[in-house]
Amino acid sequence: MTLTRREFSRLAALGGGAQLLPHLSGFAEGRKVGYCIVGLGRISMHHFMPAVKLSTKSQVTALVSGHRDKAERMAAEYGVPSSSIYSYENYDTIAKNPEIDVVYIALPNGMHAEYSIRAAKADKHVLCEKPMATSVEESRAMIQACEAARKKLMIAYRCQYEPVHLRAVALIREGRLGSIQSIESAFGFPIAPGDWRLDKKLAGGGPLMDVGIYCLNASRYLTGEEPVEVKGYSSVLDQDGRFAQVEETLSWTMKFPGRALASCVCTYGSAMRGYFRVRGSRGTVTVEPAFNYDKPHLLAQFDGGESLELAPDEPDPVQFLREADHMADCILQNKELKTPGQEGLRDMELMAQIYRSCERKNG
Ligand code: NAD
Repeated sequence: MTLTRREFSRLAALGGGAQLLPHLSGFAEGRKVGYCIVGLGRISMHHFMPAVKLSTKSQVTALVSGHRDKAERMAAEYGVPSSSIYSYENYDTIAKNPEIDVVYIALPNGMHAEYSIRAAKADKHVLCEKPMATSVEESRAMIQACEAARKKLMIAYRCQYEPVHLRAVALIREGRLGSIQSIESAFGFPIAPGDWRLDKKLAGGGPLMDVGIYCLNASRYLTGEEPVEVKGYSSVLDQDGRFAQVEETLSWTMKFPGRALASCVCTYGSAMRGYFRVRGSRGTVTVEPAFNYDKPHLLAQFDGGESLELAPDEPDPVQFLREADHMADCILQNKELKTPGQEGLRDMELMAQIYRSCERKNG
């Protein structure tokens, strides 16, 4: 990924203003929060690590990979010493490395719980990719392990740190849309055969776990409420062997205590540009694209003809930079996380309910 000098300065400034409180955190003045990256795949190498490189408060200090050659290349790029490259076999020895403060888990979903719990046991904070795990039980075990070790556990819900999403939330909270009637949301992509996402043990489920979770999480932060009822349907259209273990398409509805209804769909069968639309009694806000790495675009239309458009020209890593630096700030200043383990657990519980609802109908 390449950035212009101007973009770099702007991003660096975003991470700036890090007036750290070393006396509260036990960090020497100017010392950055050190990230150990577990799993060198798409999200870590192409999005998260380039973002951390721009940060004034976070840095990559260690790597865990099954591919030593790839890890050596990344280590050279990020200034990580060879002695701080680990394999999955000697992972637990990260406990002895004082340059590691946080472990970023970017592995297939089915490995999140094990590697998060081992990180907590190694006395490290955890930033875990979504979905938090593959079951409610695993998610609870992760929370317990981090609590027992007195370590922070954050789930990487990057959209909750993204200004366009935050603006949509603010419009709703300020009452600009009136009372919220409905939310529509979708996200999907055509999956290639052989992807670990099609393996139930590694993925936990199909598109609901991978991309539907964006629609689910957004419906919760947009309404600021927890659904009281969920109902789902799943289907497999393409009988080409890809969907032997997980669903191809899943559609579900949710009812919220304030009576708003959400209607969401996710798929591995076709390209569905991630978006959400919130319709209220006095206006509508649409964010499209919303969830992938394209620059999010917001259009709000209010009764009376007024409208608002927002499409900040920020390059991709900004969402990840904000996410990484939020974790760093919470460690340095001992603050509460915005998206802690409990936030991930709530989505896991709801996804389990959605799957149960689908099974009842299929069965
Ligand atoms: P990926 O396949 O590109 O990378 C997975 C990494 O895990 C690779 O380095 C791979 O070598 C390693 N790995 C170790 N054991 C493995 C095994 N048994 N099978 C397969 N890979 C194994 O995946 P990704 O797209 O980077 O996704 C990783 C995690 O990040 C997932 O939990 C995913 O849901 C999440 N993710 C989050 C976002 C986001 O925007 N927040 C985007 C994409 C993915």
